[in-house]
Parts: sequence; C-alpha cells; structure tokens
Amino acid sequence: MSVIVKFEKCEGCGDCIETCPCGAIELKDVKAVIDGELCADCGACIDSCPTHAIEME
Ligand code: SF4
Ligand code: SF4
Repeated sequence: MSVIVKFEKCEGCGDCIETCPCGAIELKDVKAVIDGELCADCGACIDSCPTHAIEME
C-alpha cells in the first residue's frame, strides 16, 4: 500500500503539507507530491484533503 495524489483533483491548498507528521509532502507546480521514502503511510493527509485528492492504493 502507498499513498498517492490524484493530481487532477489537487488544488494546491497545502493542507496536507500542514498535516503530514513526516514532512513527506511538498508542492511542485501547485500540486502536492509525496516522497515515498519519507511517508509512513499513516493516512493523516487523506482526511485533511478538502478535494479528496489523496488515496491509499
Ligand atoms: S500518509 Fe502520513 S506520512 Fe504519508 S504523506 Fe500522508 S500524512 Fe505524510
Ligand atoms: S490537501 Fe489536497 S488539494 Fe490541498 S494540496 Fe494536499 S492534495 Fe492538494
């Protein structure tokens, strides 16, 4: 399982970045990008996203 961002749904609000305890998310070209090396798969960012752009796959 890994956490992925559906780029077409991401509006670049940055809420997920504030939520991530691991500093695993950054914005690139106004889209959230998750660093799989830093991500602990905690799922916190999924609930933080107002556009439901983050999913566990
Ligand atoms: S699943 Fe957790 S550790 Fe991974 S990017 Fe989301 S908030 Fe950060
Ligand atoms: S919370 Fe959702 S919409 Fe906002 S930057 Fe993160 S993935 Fe994009």
